[in-house]
Amino acid sequence: MSERTVKQSGERGEQETRPQAGPGRRGTVRPIVQLGDPVLRKPCAEVTDFGPELEQLAEDMFASMYAANGCGLAANQIGVSLRVFVYDCPTEEGDHVGVVVNPRLELPDVADRVLLEEEEGCLSIKGGWARVARPSYAVVHGFDLRGEPITVEGTGYFARCLQHECDHLDGGLYIDRLPARARKSLLRSLNLQEG
Ligand SMILES: [Zn+2]
Repeated sequence: MSERTVKQSGERGEQETRPQAGPGRRGTVRPIVQLGDPVLRKPCAEVTDFGPELEQLAEDMFASMYAANGCGLAANQIGVSLRVFVYDCPTEEGDHVGVVVNPRLELPDVADRVLLEEEEGCLSIKGGWARVARPSYAVVHGFDLRGEPITVEGTGYFARCLQHECDHLDGGLYIDRLPARARKSLLRSLNLQEG
């Protein structure tokens, strides 16, 4: 997910102040796949091999996300169709940083949901922003890079980020959640189209 909204809140400083020892340090920056590439529309495969290759993939994903100034990135956004996402999402409670393998998203029951409508952007739809309504709370169950079960819980902007990245792994994009008209005008304003 793109970062504009949270960047304005100034929770994190400039790119240069990023710690040298954090995730992505050993990663290679890879190009971010853009809308129109079929890999973004294909549901990603479950990870079955929790080895050094998966660790390197996560490093590359962190490096690519930071280079693109994002706060979340799914593996298919660098062309790898596997169910993995990384995030570094600054919120008022602090910085949420991590990686989830084979995530399963859990949202509150429809009757208990509080929807928040906020601006959302995506590194794979460069320059596009739109208000998207999403539940204000989300839980993701999945695994870490060693295959240990983990649960990640988010509210507000971080909940949005978790949902955005899980959508990617199912072949979804935030523009799918826009009314037809809004989606059309957003794509037109970016000179983009999707068949
Ligand atoms: Zn995205």
